[in-house]
Amino acid sequence: MPHREINPYEAMQASLRVASELYGLDDALFKVFMAPTRSMIVSLPVLMDNGQWEVFTGYRVQHNLTRGPAKGGIRYDMNVTLDEVKAMAAWMTWKTAVVDVPFGGGKGGIVCDPNRLSIGEKERLTRRYIAEIMDIIGPDRDVPAQDMGTDAQTMAWVLDTYNMHVRRTENAVVTGKPLGLGGSLGRNEATGRGVLITAREAMQRLGKPLAGATVAIQGFGNVGSQAARLMHEAGARIVAVCDLKGAIRNDRGLDVHALLKHHLETGTVTGLKGAEPMDPAELLTLAVDILVPAATENQITDENAPQVRAKVIVEGANGPTTPEADAILLEHRVLVVPDILANAGGVTVSYFEWVQNRQGFYWREREVNERLVDYMTHAFQATFATTDKYKTNPRIGAYILALDRVAQAMKYRGFYA
Ligand code: NAD
Repeated sequence: MPHREINPYEAMQASLRVASELYGLDDALFKVFMAPTRSMIVSLPVLMDNGQWEVFTGYRVQHNLTRGPAKGGIRYDMNVTLDEVKAMAAWMTWKTAVVDVPFGGGKGGIVCDPNRLSIGEKERLTRRYIAEIMDIIGPDRDVPAQDMGTDAQTMAWVLDTYNMHVRRTENAVVTGKPLGLGGSLGRNEATGRGVLITAREAMQRLGKPLAGATVAIQGFGNVGSQAARLMHEAGARIVAVCDLKGAIRNDRGLDVHALLKHHLETGTVTGLKGAEPMDPAELLTLAVDILVPAATENQITDENAPQVRAKVIVEGANGPTTPEADAILLEHRVLVVPDILANAGGVTVSYFEWVQNRQGFYWREREVNERLVDYMTHAFQATFATTDKYKTNPRIGAYILALDRVAQAMKYRGFYA
C-alpha cells in the first residue's frame, strides 16, 4: 500500500549517491546536486465562491539550471510538500539530461484538492500563484507544464497571467497549452507515447514483442489513459486498470475504447461493463508482462515488491518505486524502466512545443511523433549502454548518464564565485 511517509527527496538522494559513487563524481559536484539551486514558498490568498478567503501554500523549486532554463510541471494535490517538489525538480534535471533536451530541472505545486475547487477558484488560485512566482519563471528562466491535478486549461491561465504582467505575448513561458494558444500536436499523449516506446524497447530486450503482452496500469489520468490507449492500439492486452476510486480487470483484455468513453462520462474506471472489480493493491502484483505505475510516488515498496510478478515495470509516474523496493526487484530480475527515462516523453514534446513557439513555426503531428520516437529510443539505448558499462541497474544507469551530461556542462561553465 502507498507509503506517503517515505520522503521522495531522500529517495532521489539515495539513487544520486549510489550513481555518484559508481561514476566517481567529483565531491564538489555531488554536493551541488544534492540540494536545489532555488526554492520558493508562496502564500496564496484566494477568494472562494462562498465569499470567504482561504490561504493556500505553493512552491516552485529549481534544482539545476546548468543545461538550460528550468522545466517541470505544476502539481495540485493535498499531499504536495516542499520535499516532494524538490524531488520532482531534481528528477527533471536528470530526465531532461537523459533525453538530452536543453533544460534544467524545476517543479511546482500547490497544496490543495483540485477536485474540490470550482473552476473559478482553480483559476484564481492559478493566477495568484503565477503572479507570486513571476520573477523566477519565463521562457529563458523556468518553463512550467501540467502535472497531477492540472491540465491544458490551467496552462492557459498560466500563459495569460504571465503575458498580462509582461505586457506581450510570450507563449513559450509554459507548455502543455491548448492547441489554439500555441500548444503542440501530440503533447497531450506524449508521456503515454513515451511509455509505449520504452515498453516496446524493454520487451525487445527480453526478446518478446509488445503485441500480445499483458499490461496492468495503476492510475488513469493523462499518463495512464493515454498509455492504455496507445499500448492497446499496438496490440498489447490491457488486463487491469485502477484509479483513486477502485480497480477493474478482465483477463481476456479490457475493451479500452469503451473504457475511455466510460471514464470520460463518469470520471472513473470503476463500473465498466464487462470488467470485474478488484482490490487496487492487488493490481501491482498481478502476473502480467508489463506493469505501468502511472499514479503517484511510493507505490511499490519493500512490502509489496516481493510479490510483484510483472516481467517489466515501466514507470509512467515519478518516483513510484522506493529504493528498498528497487533492490528487491533487481534480485527478482524484474526489468525496471526508470521514471526519468520512461515518462520523459512529456518533457520531450514540451521541448518541441517550446521550440515551435520560439520559431513561430508549427509541426505536423507525424513530425512530432517521429521525433519523439527518435529521442526516446536514443535515450533508451544510451541508458542501457550506460547500465551495461557500469554493470548496474537501469535506474542507476539513467542517473549516471544524466550526471555525466550535467557534470560535463558544469565543468565547462565552472563555478562562479
Ligand atoms: P492525473 O492527475 O491526470 O492522473 C492521476 C491518476 O492517478 C488519476 O486517475 C488518479 O485517480 C490516480 N491516482 C492517484 N493516486 C492514486 C493511488 N494512490 N492509487 C491509484 N490511483 C491513483 O496525473 P498525470 O498527469 O497522469 O500524472 C500521473 C503521474 O505521472 C505523476 O506521477 C506525474 O508526476 C507523472 N508524470 C506526468 C506527466 C504528464 O505529462 N502529465 C509527465 C511525466 C510524469
